[in-house]
Amino acid sequence: MKVLVGVKRVIDYNVNIRVKADGTGVETENVRMSTNPFDEIALEEAVRLKEAGICSELVAVTVGDEASQETLRGALAMGADRAIRVHAEMPPQPLNVAALLAAIAREEAVDLVLLGKQAIDDDANQTGQMTAALLGWPQGTFASELTIEDGRARVAREIDGGQQTVELELPAVVTADLRLNEPRFVKLPAMMKAKKRPIEERTPEALGIDMRPRVERVEVSEPVSREAGVRVADVDELLHKLRNEAGVI
Ligand code: AMP
Repeated sequence: MKVLVGVKRVIDYNVNIRVKADGTGVETENVRMSTNPFDEIALEEAVRLKEAGICSELVAVTVGDEASQETLRGALAMGADRAIRVHAEMPPQPLNVAALLAAIAREEAVDLVLLGKQAIDDDANQTGQMTAALLGWPQGTFASELTIEDGRARVAREIDGGQQTVELELPAVVTADLRLNEPRFVKLPAMMKAKKRPIEERTPEALGIDMRPRVERVEVSEPVSREAGVRVADVDELLHKLRNEAGVI
């Protein structure tokens, strides 16, 4: 079984995000970047499928600029057999990424596309769903458990107030939620070895995908800062404030 995993280079989750002064986006210059955490989970799951003898080839793909190669090196170090970068300016839009992933999934004749449930930079949560739709394949999103058996994927999904289990006929698209697994720590020697491995370079033109944006980002702004709270002495004072200061009762 062949598995394709999408990995995206995003601002590290520990970084305090700063909005650009002109409101066109967020600062990425001199900011620590890393692999989207949900993509590490997707990758870990694919590596486990390989270790279990279920996956025979694991291909990692990123859509991004030259710096995104770093993310692919991490994927190779973790256990990917091959790495593909599709050239794009950052940040590419989900529909364009989905079209590219679908084109590669078809070309590579993969059985499973494993993605993160969302990229933590734009929180779009769209790419997996759109990839499945473009391919006409079934999808299991927000997976917290994945089992492959007899050409089918069994996916336990986290839904409001419980869990739902779905069965998909392969080929299919699955997106990873937080509790699917705990990604392994990549050791330095594996990282060093990965630096020497080849990365296959592709372009949207060669894949026949139109990269024109479909969505215009109008403005990015900081969240409104909250006013500090006050401590009240008793219920009477609370009621007084709610009535006379906040005007809500
Ligand atoms: P999103 O729809 O942007 O929240 O992303 C959902 C998932 O799609 C991510 O967790 C990745 O697995 C995949 N993905 C999104 N953007 C890219 C990209 N530029 N390159 C590779 N995979 C991506």
